[in-house]
Amino acid sequence: MAETKAKKKPSKRKPAASKQKSAKYVYFFGGGKADGNESMKNLLGGKGANLAEMAGHKDLRLPVPPGFTVTTEVCTHYYANRKSYPKGLKDQVNGALAKVEKLMGKRFGDPKNPLLVSVRSGARRSMPGMMDTVLNVGLNDVTVKGLIEQTKNPRFVYDAYRRLIMMYADVVMEKAAGIEPKGGKGIRKVLDERLDQVKRQRGYRSDTDISADELKALVHEFKQIVKDVLGKPFPDKPEDQLWGGIGAVFMSWNGKRAIEYRRIEKIPDEWGTAVNVQSMVFGNMGNDSATGVAFTRNPGNGEDRFYGEYLTNAQGEDVVAGTRTPAPINEYSKNAQSAHLATLESIMPKNYKQLHEFQKRLEKHYRDMQDIEFTIEKGTLYMLQCRVGKRNGTAAVRMATEMFKERLIDVDTAVMRVQPNQLVELLLPMLDPKAEAASPPIAKGLPAGPGGAKGRAVFTSPDAVKWAERGEKVILVREETSPEDVDGMHKSQAILTSKGGMTSHAALVARGWGKCCIVGCSDIEIGHDNKSFKTKKGAVVREGDWITLNGTKGLVYEGSLALVDVDLAHNQSYSDLMKIVDKVREMKVRTNADTPKDARKAIEFGAEGIGLFRTEHMFYGEGSDKPLFLLRKMIMSKTLDERKAALAELFSFVKGDIKATLEVMNGLPVTVRLLDPPLHEFVPHSGEKLQQLGQELGVDQVELAKRAEMLRENNPMLGHRGVRLGITYPEITDMQVRAIFEAAGELLKEGKKAFPEIMIPVTCTVNELHDQKVIVDRVYKEVCAKLGLGKIPFMYGTMIEIPRAALTANRMAESAEFFSFGTNDLTQMGFGFSRDDIGGFLPDYLGKKMLPEDPFQSIDQEGIGELIKVGIDRGRLVRPNLKVGICGEHGGDPESVKFCHRVGMNYVSCSPFRVPIARLAAAQAAVEDRKTAKTKGPSKDAKKPAKKKK
Ligand code: PEP
Ligand code: MG
Repeated sequence: MAETKAKKKPSKRKPAASKQKSAKYVYFFGGGKADGNESMKNLLGGKGANLAEMAGHKDLRLPVPPGFTVTTEVCTHYYANRKSYPKGLKDQVNGALAKVEKLMGKRFGDPKNPLLVSVRSGARRSMPGMMDTVLNVGLNDVTVKGLIEQTKNPRFVYDAYRRLIMMYADVVMEKAAGIEPKGGKGIRKVLDERLDQVKRQRGYRSDTDISADELKALVHEFKQIVKDVLGKPFPDKPEDQLWGGIGAVFMSWNGKRAIEYRRIEKIPDEWGTAVNVQSMVFGNMGNDSATGVAFTRNPGNGEDRFYGEYLTNAQGEDVVAGTRTPAPINEYSKNAQSAHLATLESIMPKNYKQLHEFQKRLEKHYRDMQDIEFTIEKGTLYMLQCRVGKRNGTAAVRMATEMFKERLIDVDTAVMRVQPNQLVELLLPMLDPKAEAASPPIAKGLPAGPGGAKGRAVFTSPDAVKWAERGEKVILVREETSPEDVDGMHKSQAILTSKGGMTSHAALVARGWGKCCIVGCSDIEIGHDNKSFKTKKGAVVREGDWITLNGTKGLVYEGSLALVDVDLAHNQSYSDLMKIVDKVREMKVRTNADTPKDARKAIEFGAEGIGLFRTEHMFYGEGSDKPLFLLRKMIMSKTLDERKAALAELFSFVKGDIKATLEVMNGLPVTVRLLDPPLHEFVPHSGEKLQQLGQELGVDQVELAKRAEMLRENNPMLGHRGVRLGITYPEITDMQVRAIFEAAGELLKEGKKAFPEIMIPVTCTVNELHDQKVIVDRVYKEVCAKLGLGKIPFMYGTMIEIPRAALTANRMAESAEFFSFGTNDLTQMGFGFSRDDIGGFLPDYLGKKMLPEDPFQSIDQEGIGELIKVGIDRGRLVRPNLKVGICGEHGGDPESVKFCHRVGMNYVSCSPFRVPIARLAAAQAAVEDRKTAKTKGPSKDAKKPAKKKK
């Protein structure tokens, strides 16, 4: 149809300009012009805005098939007004359609030279495959004849017609109409089965074997089936088809799949989708036609090479669906499965050259890697879509740093290009090369998502969800995935498909999530029972069997192979990025670490101190037997003397433990928190341990049980814990503080560096701090004298984790030189939600949108955030140079880190593995801050610390 040159044929429809002016709902693009542009994503959706940019921007003006975008505001109106359209929309659509007709020289519904259009969704952020599309709209028994006349290709035309009926019946007449298919078998499946039956009866292997006459008969049969199954005829009027398609796209915004995807990706429900109506061009009009997907750089590893796949004589959906193995666009894009196929560059060199030139222009224009969809119709290249390409973490880091070096982007853009959580992929384990060398792979596929992963094989998405929810690690194995599978894919450690290429649904989605993924693994064949697969080499893997994937190489192994940590030191792009990040950020990043090993790891990841050293860790796990026994002895003591004796024995363990970590940190600040948990937590329960303790203390079991019973509390989290222990038993504080000072003092005497910060937990009044400070000062003097030291550098401070402490921060700061927000407890006590028991009700709160997310994962800025702000403000009122940090779990959550920056904290502290993520998030916060300050003045949370970088 693109062969037909523009024969002017004015439309009979009324143009858009009606007398009373309504808001603009429809944006036209095509013929080198566009009403919209790239900056209008909120209104036109990502796809619509980019189509406008590609078609109309003076530096681009690419061959985009003309069309128009119905705005997201119409979607919002549609849902707010009982699924009706705003006044004036119809006229505007007709007006835009008339412009398209004029450019194409065809008319929608014209019996002689009909225009066909596609109707597609397009939200602000891409939601691949989650919403519905209808292609070939405008075909009916009359226009079919005109199109055959124009194309002289009845087979192609009837194939397009049967595709329209299948898609329309499925998307518009069934899904959008809310019809629940009988026995779970939708109309699409009914029609697909009929198509397969015809193929089987005739002995055909592929769709392309079906003749024009057979397709014609199928079209009539399909229409009858649609009527019988859905109780309504397929609409013949092109206008009805168009409006049916538009409505269905809006309806699909609230389809189950789309809602699920939005939940995972945190896309607000209010955004709505736009609808793009665009003239059809066909990649399936013969061997001089093709369609494909390409990326301006390799989205799998970030290399700056044009990368893509295509299929000749096919429609776009065939590439993404993964049903045919796509061919490489150039030599670089070849992989094990496609190496034997001819490249686009070799079979359509002129089109490839043009495409190559366009992709260069697009990347330069957008200054980012673009994901491009193109179609070649009878030798003419059309650009159907471009958008910022999804990439995995490894690729994101490489692209950001290389584009910065190429001066394509500035430093701030480079910092913003990598999502902090994408770094997780670089830090995640990979397969142990030794284990890999020792076990031959059972299959090889395409490496769509890097890293290593292991899990038990499951074969359906619901099974993946079910198994994962009961705590199993699973790998989802499918022939190919579809948008229906997203939930299961999300819950799996990795995804393995036997079909599909690097641009198939599974590859695309896994890339977006940074998940280990192997696609197109034709070495495996999934059994008819859908509960096992067999490999070419004869291995059989059944449901529940362990498998291990190397997503970087595309290799599948039987069993559970060892995974090892990655070697970041050799990742040049990562080092380059972190150098930039550290220059840009203003906040320090520390770690929560309790052992020299963790401390060392954290330093490797760039930690600049320890923000929380939980002293009690030494009483748990490996090597804890002796100190735990002594602690128990202390707990079960009745008299002060008994307790002091036990503490004296414990002292050397505590000192040794603290000293080892202080030594590793080599002068970087280490916040040592005094004993926090309620003592009852350490009371022994087993008979043998109790007996031993009784002997040691010289008391019988009855007495011991009595003492344990006395320590029992109804609500230990709000009981005798934290500073309260030090108030009741000052000797416990004495011992700990002495251990800290002696550890630091000894290191200093050994010529090493040490900087402890003594932190008092669970405080609610300054009087507690004053009380404990007396002990600290006394012990300090005693230790200095004992070791002959003039001074031992240290700081004295508190955790702010009780709302009262935050509200009275001005008082707390009279004594405390630093605050560390313990947002785990602050959230617990601010909400009144027990942090150990939220599992029972939080899902309901999230499901009913009572809360936007789990407040224990990301700071509740509205409530708990206010307590933090008040705490910092009031604290600094009294002590302007008050050092403030955070050591709750939130310290490693990017959004919370950004919040901490905005409220003026000096540092965040998080687990070692999250240190790089926090560094990047802190840098992004600084960039965002500068941007807001430029446009609006300081942000609403803005509070600068008296002195940063301390
Ligand atoms: C906190 O409450 O935020 C905190 C870090 O302490 P813990 O988790 O040990 O109670
Ligand atoms: Mg706490």
